[in-house]
Amino acid sequence: MTTEIRGQLRYNEPMSLHTSLKVGGPADLYAIPEDAEDLQKMVSWLGQRNIPWLPVGRGYNLLVRDKGIRGAVISLERFDRISAIGGALIKAEAGAENLAVVRFAQRLGLGGIGFISGIPGTIGGAIKMNAGAYGEGLLAKTDRLTLLRGGKLLDFRIEELDYGYRHLRLEEGDIVLAATFKLEEREPSCTEEEIRNDLELRRTKHNVGYPSAGSFFKNPPGEGAWRLIDAAGMRGVKVGGAQVSEVHSNFLVNAGGATARDFLDLATIVINAVLTTSGVTLEEEVRIVGEI
Ligand SMILES: Cc1cc2nc3c(=O)[nH]c(=O)nc-3n(C[C@H](O)[C@H](O)[C@H](O)COP(=O)(O)OP(=O)(O)OC[C@H]3O[C@@H](n4cnc5c(N)ncnc54)[C@H](O)[C@@H]3O)c2cc1C
Repeated sequence: MTTEIRGQLRYNEPMSLHTSLKVGGPADLYAIPEDAEDLQKMVSWLGQRNIPWLPVGRGYNLLVRDKGIRGAVISLERFDRISAIGGALIKAEAGAENLAVVRFAQRLGLGGIGFISGIPGTIGGAIKMNAGAYGEGLLAKTDRLTLLRGGKLLDFRIEELDYGYRHLRLEEGDIVLAATFKLEEREPSCTEEEIRNDLELRRTKHNVGYPSAGSFFKNPPGEGAWRLIDAAGMRGVKVGGAQVSEVHSNFLVNAGGATARDFLDLATIVINAVLTTSGVTLEEEVRIVGEI
């Protein structure tokens, strides 16, 4: 890639280093742009050569197939500024960590997004996934998004976009650069309690002891995926190094030496078993990318 790029470029970068499941083959290019100008140059260079790109956060919801990613993976980790923009609005760049955003709001006496405190990852990933917990989703607390689309920085009001449970429809190649959140006045001590409760709950319920991507399947309407997986007798089932967690049956874990193929085969077994026992087709929440 051109020498005008100031950020980092790594070639044949193993994606297992950048995903919480610790599996995944190499990305042809793993790029860490320095700032928006750098990112625009990068995307323009890739676009001119018809090379696809995939923006990523911290890989907490990514299953990369074993042959890796043809094209570029773009990490937004350098975009981590958070700022107050007046009233009850704060703006966070895509690479900011969720908990850092909650803490920033707390210092201003603002709150309403405490439910993302313990969700591992960045704002970019949380926006794309409409991450949430306890029946809440981050996009309902979002006022607007700044996207890099077609080489331009564009602002969208959230109402202009199509989103739902663990889903935001973006166009191919769109990159979330920042999100503005509409918050409420909240005593810092109340936010502190929310954070503490959330982290404690996760320390107990989500402590599965092995690398995971959190819930592997979406909850079907009005149902818990874990309950259906349990009813199908899948708790603890293993394929190679991938296993349905003994602790939380909607977590598929890397119990040691798993490949992406192991996870995909295990997911198919779970989906078929649940379909047979409950008549429900589970859908993956984890984003599956790359070549088989
Ligand atoms: C232990 C554990 C617990 C979890 N608990 C929860 C939970 O309670 N609720 C929940 O919702 N999730 C949960 N997750 C899943 C995960 O933490 C979230 O989906 C999180 O939002 C992913 O953030 P990330 O930055 O790691 O995104 P990544 O995994 O890197 O990316 C996720 C998706 O977003 C896209 N993306 C990332 N950044 C951008 C960007 N800047 N622009 C456009 N697209 C982008 C990626 O291409 C990918 O499709 C959990 C995961 C773990 C490991």
